[in-house]
Amino acid sequence: MTKATSVDGAAVLRWIELELPEPPWREREPFLGFVYVDPQAGLSAKGGRAGDPQQAEQPSLTVRLPIGVPGRVLGDDEAGGRGLPATPSWLPHFGPQPPAHGPWRTDPGLQGRFHAQFPDDLQVLVHDGEPRRTGKRTELCWVRVVAEEARLAAPAGAGEAATRIYVGELLNKPHGLSTVTAGERIRFVPAPGGRHPLYVTAAYLAERGEWDIAPCSSCGLAETLDPPTVMAQTRFPDAGETAPVMFTAHCALCGPPAHQLVQRRRQP
Ligand SMILES: [Zn+2]
Repeated sequence: MTKATSVDGAAVLRWIELELPEPPWREREPFLGFVYVDPQAGLSAKGGRAGDPQQAEQPSLTVRLPIGVPGRVLGDDEAGGRGLPATPSWLPHFGPQPPAHGPWRTDPGLQGRFHAQFPDDLQVLVHDGEPRRTGKRTELCWVRVVAEEARLAAPAGAGEAATRIYVGELLNKPHGLSTVTAGERIRFVPAPGGRHPLYVTAAYLAERGEWDIAPCSSCGLAETLDPPTVMAQTRFPDAGETAPVMFTAHCALCGPPAHQLVQRRRQP
């Protein structure tokens, strides 16, 4: 246990060992603790001296995480082999806990985005749709991820991985938006290109698979805020049923001259 891995949110509801520089015991033993989320203090671990089996259920020490000391996460087999409970009996005292194996915590597209103390909280760009149509600015809001939803299939033969969609609870009240409210569960794309994870609506997801979106020439955003058919109506209100199969749009985040190319996929 010499590697200074920082034990982070991926360890929530797991057993960990930490080499504390000045532990409150004389033996040369690591701290053994169970990682949970304290409603006020955030990510924490409770336990004690690794050699004392009683510390699992009757912890003597609480460590706030992350902490810059060498540590490691115990595998389920090792924890079970050492007689550690899957969840200690004191855990309910700290209220509802996040899911144990949230895939978002190890999603490469989200690395570095989570709040250090609250391992499922991150900032997502929320909006009412294209500012050009709605007159409303986008807003960056805190969201607590609660689930992974279905994945958006990549176009056949495109060689791209499917896009993950996550569901999260909006933690703060948007200042000027009217289609999303605090406490609401929203869907977002973790790595849409551009600078931030992006809120997406059901209407957007419903037609996303029918379109190719070439990334913004400036920020790289490869999603749009409105469904492409809505964008087409905004730009060509008289086109009616003969909606264009390809159009360029100024990036909703960068503005002119940055643009995206939006193109309807050919049917296979
Ligand atoms: Zn852009």
